[in-house]
Amino acid sequence: MSDEKLDIPFTSPAVPNAFGSGTTIRFNCHKGVSCFNACCKRADVTLAPYDVLRLKKRLGMTSEEFLDKHTVPFQMDQDGVPGLKMKTTDEGVCLLLDGENGCSVYADRPTVCRYYPVALLNVREKDSSDPAEKYSLIKEEHCKGHEEAREISVADYRQEQGCVEYDDMNREWYRLILKKKSAGPAVGKPSEMSLQVFFMASYNLDTFRRFVLSDSFRNTYKLSDVFYSGVEKSDEALLDFGFRFLRQVLFAERSVEEVTGIWEKRLAERKEVWDLRTKMEVERRQKEIDDRYKGDD
Ligand code: SF4
Ligand code: SF4
Repeated sequence: MSDEKLDIPFTSPAVPNAFGSGTTIRFNCHKGVSCFNACCKRADVTLAPYDVLRLKKRLGMTSEEFLDKHTVPFQMDQDGVPGLKMKTTDEGVCLLLDGENGCSVYADRPTVCRYYPVALLNVREKDSSDPAEKYSLIKEEHCKGHEEAREISVADYRQEQGCVEYDDMNREWYRLILKKKSAGPAVGKPSEMSLQVFFMASYNLDTFRRFVLSDSFRNTYKLSDVFYSGVEKSDEALLDFGFRFLRQVLFAERSVEEVTGIWEKRLAERKEVWDLRTKMEVERRQKEIDDRYKGDD
């Protein structure tokens, strides 16, 4: 059915059948299950951008502090597109697990934790350029929730677990990654600079905000004052813009309009600097020669 997919979690023993949101699953998780917290003690949680935004706010940290304290980087593909996972103890216990009380950030827990044991699959179906969201079921021995009697549709499960809001916020990012995967070598390996911008716009919003509000950025792109005041105040607006900007960075789409003639102006400025450097170098050499001759007199 599909030839491309983005799995969340990226490595999981997912049952290979992908199904739609109308499918009913048999599952329940509550404090009374015998395995309560077992999944958080072997956590393999890949983070999407909105997960990072919610967690850093919840923990009252800057992006840098959160990235440093709670995440480990990994490469999502052979071109080095950067991904993030939650940091765990050496035994695999999530650092945000609060003993027997369970998740200490439950209302802000990441997408993977909300969905588990369902996995979200972003797939590109044949003859369609639009990605479709499908699901599969992860069955791991330690998870006894599958033995519970409750039946629920995936659509209702997504509502119950608060996945809908998270998917709405991350959807454009999933699409970017799927497009990158689908295009394969056609778009080439992103430059080191593009990968750094991808990391910053996806996960390090505080730094990305400084970048977007810088004079150099303002002088390069045609964006309104209303836009700048929006991204200054709102992480969500900044995240949305980041996904739009990444289409330009990764796929050279003209998703953000540039100031007319900016590149010609930059080249001209560089030429001025280059001419000045050349002139200074010529003068320095001439002085060396003059000084040498003076010494010979
Ligand atoms: S973030 Fe919360 S739900 Fe997710 S693995 Fe950690 S403790 Fe468990
Ligand atoms: S039922 Fe599954 S999801 Fe719930 S606590 Fe147990 S292992 Fe985790």
